[in-house]
Amino acid sequence: MDIEMFEKLAFATKEIHAGNKKNSEGSATTPIYQTSTFIFDSAQEGGEVFSGNKPGYKYSRFGNPTNTVLEDKMSLLEGAEDCISTSSGIGAISAALWAALKSGDHVMACGTIYGDTAALLNYGYKKFGVEVDFVDMSDPENVRKAIKKNTRVVYIETPANPTLKISDIRAISDIAHEKKDCLVMVDNTFATPYIQKPLLLGADVVLYSGTKFINGHGDVIAGFVLGSKQFIKEVKFSVQKMTGAILSPFDSYLVIRGLKTLSLRMERHCSNAIKIANFLEQHVEIEKVYYPGLKSFNQYELANKQMSLPGAIIAFEMKKGYESGIVLMNSLKICRLAVSLGEAETLIQHPASMSHVIFSKEERLSAGISDGLVRLAVGLEDPEDIIQDLKQALGQIV
Ligand SMILES: *Cc1c(COP(=O)(O)O)cnc(C)c1O
Repeated sequence: MDIEMFEKLAFATKEIHAGNKKNSEGSATTPIYQTSTFIFDSAQEGGEVFSGNKPGYKYSRFGNPTNTVLEDKMSLLEGAEDCISTSSGIGAISAALWAALKSGDHVMACGTIYGDTAALLNYGYKKFGVEVDFVDMSDPENVRKAIKKNTRVVYIETPANPTLKISDIRAISDIAHEKKDCLVMVDNTFATPYIQKPLLLGADVVLYSGTKFINGHGDVIAGFVLGSKQFIKEVKFSVQKMTGAILSPFDSYLVIRGLKTLSLRMERHCSNAIKIANFLEQHVEIEKVYYPGLKSFNQYELANKQMSLPGAIIAFEMKKGYESGIVLMNSLKICRLAVSLGEAETLIQHPASMSHVIFSKEERLSAGISDGLVRLAVGLEDPEDIIQDLKQALGQIV
């Protein structure tokens, strides 16, 4: 099937068929090309492949047939011209920034952001003379105020950790593009291409931690950068020649397998999350629930406008703070205590006592993490069982 035919297919058909190639043995699933290098028939052929005059694989750091199927599938699902897979989400983010930035450039990133992305900007890029500002993008006018002559990247994560803050991709892209040469990058990990399409909303580059919903089974660390052919060519240079953060063909095979059910999984993740968020909102031990699918969510309308479903990450504040968070964690029987998200298993964590335990209370509060904040990454189980588990654990709080 040619590319144009794939483009006309519905998401659920694309996630299964797009990008797949017929191979010489006729294997129905994509084989794992577990090889470091590729053999040439002659010196002349080697020369033609290396000079780019003939298409072909030469060494797996520069491309591998299993990865090509996955990258083509991701491009077609996202509606992007091109894609590069990476060995982690942070590998994708650092490669995209490396391709976009030079010394003296300015990056504006949203204030609510994945912790290691903030660390990458603060410690990875500042020392090379890149200016970094974190801005509250829940009001797009703040972006207009903070834009500078040397702003090269406006970096958005939406919905964002930990309080699911939403940024208006269309409005921010319009403002950023009033300035020539300004790239809008969106970390779309929480939403996936099934729920939110940043390129259609005006962004230039989409980033993923493929570790989460994209693979969906909690057995791979992976990442993706998607965008124009020209930009991805530059990102490929940084992935393949500078950081070397390429995805292994075996992991690529697992993500291809996971992607086949992305739409089914997202429908179930989200319908479970809506039921669980409604339950939590009614509970006496809970002060506040942050979930874009609740009418009480302060950006409910914006979420509805740019996402087709509200996602499956819920954050909530315990009325009795730190201690009650610990009692909840230690009383759960089905929900697993772990960071990460987007797996079949429901994962729960209490940042103040777990992921953010090394930070001071002030540092945590400035990142939006109160002592009683809990993050729930809803899985694919029967929602009633998860609700019962939360109910019995919340019942242990005195
Ligand atoms: C997990 C995550 C990342 C980092 O991805 P890794 O695959 O762990 O490197 C980046 N952004 C968001 C929103 C994430 O949830």
